[in-house]
Amino acid sequence: MNKQKVAVLGGGIQGICVALALAKDPRYIIHLIDKNKSLLQETSLINEGKIHLGFVYALDDTFQTAERMLHDGLSFAPTLEYLVGHKIDWGRISSSRFEYLVSQHSMVGKDLLLEYYHKINDCYQTLKDDDLLHYLGNRLDSLLPPLEVAGLDNFGEIKAGVVTEEKSVNTIKLRRILLEAVSASTSIHTETDCLISHIRRDVSGFRLTGEKSHAAWQENFDIVVNCLWTGRLQLDQQMGMLPDFKWIYRKKYRLLAMLPTELQWLKSYTIVQGQFGDLVNYETSQETYLSWYPSCMKGLSHEVTPPKSWSEEADQEQIIRESLTSLNRIFPGIEMARVLNLSSGVIFARGKTDISDVESELHTRFEQRV
Ligand SMILES: Cc1cc2nc3c(=O)[nH]c(=O)nc-3n(C[C@H](O)[C@H](O)[C@H](O)COP(=O)(O)OP(=O)(O)OC[C@H]3O[C@@H](n4cnc5c(N)ncnc54)[C@H](O)[C@@H]3O)c2cc1C
Repeated sequence: MNKQKVAVLGGGIQGICVALALAKDPRYIIHLIDKNKSLLQETSLINEGKIHLGFVYALDDTFQTAERMLHDGLSFAPTLEYLVGHKIDWGRISSSRFEYLVSQHSMVGKDLLLEYYHKINDCYQTLKDDDLLHYLGNRLDSLLPPLEVAGLDNFGEIKAGVVTEEKSVNTIKLRRILLEAVSASTSIHTETDCLISHIRRDVSGFRLTGEKSHAAWQENFDIVVNCLWTGRLQLDQQMGMLPDFKWIYRKKYRLLAMLPTELQWLKSYTIVQGQFGDLVNYETSQETYLSWYPSCMKGLSHEVTPPKSWSEEADQEQIIRESLTSLNRIFPGIEMARVLNLSSGVIFARGKTDISDVESELHTRFEQRV
């Protein structure tokens, strides 16, 4: 059988999942191409890893984002297990449960938020008996365990708190699992250090050009799947396929830190609703993920590709100082955390304005086509 030669562009989580899915079909031979020297080094590595169940989308009053997130959140683990071909010990790679802390500056009132969380749980009741779905290895009775957030008085500026079953996965550990699956596949050829700059259609399929290890490179493929995230629209534009909606790139930092001993009791938290932040503690890791939106968001662009200047680092000291000072208003004492790493990634989404705008499309994610 003549196999079709497929180029999967981008070795982040999207590209790897596409490559693993295609590798299950004997008709394809897959070239997984990335500009970095190894896979999964960019957004999919530095992100918070939250497997959303819809709790942060209370500003979508159509409820469609929550419905979509809920279904997709419950599909994430079974889909990955299917793709890597074995069960995953999610307990070892996930965070503690998220507690949602309602800020006194929330864009949505406390009662409305609580009503919204209960609506998500009602929706979950219609999905929980589906054998194909589970949430990170768990088949839960309810997404809202009947628990109070312990020691609400310990948190500053907080009006209410709700314990949820939502969790994050540790992206460093998930990366290892995905890389093992890619290496184990005989149908996937990994091409790293390969920067794609052009695509054009020719009689037999597509011609890709770029640079491999800094030397000119070109190759023909029958099929191309574009999973380049920040690089995606540049090639889509060359194919006359720019999206018909407005998009927004946001450059966002995150901190990895060691908490002071007296704060090591902290679980994982999302502060809602608006431009606040998150604190994530993973079960088998000493490091805590921290972000404070107003201090960590360092760029917004509607261009075809994010500005070149985004590859230069912003003032790191300032981001760390401002983030910790702001988080200290919620988690007193966190100012003393020892920051181990500060990195940034880019979020690409449909929308025109930032999340401070209640009308922003960033609050409604059900129509995303990325
Ligand atoms: C700070 C932050 C926190 C986030 N938190 C969450 C969260 O909690 N939950 C959630 O669901 N999502 C979250 N996201 C979004 C999530 O990270 C992205 O949706 C996801 O990682 C995108 O995966 P990807 O594979 O498309 O992109 P990437 O991981 O960026 O992969 C794209 C790959 O393409 C390669 N590439 C790009 N251009 C070229 C080129 N021209 N030639 C060759 N290779 C190229 C890159 O090297 C990269 O490896 C967050 C994002 C950020 C920035």
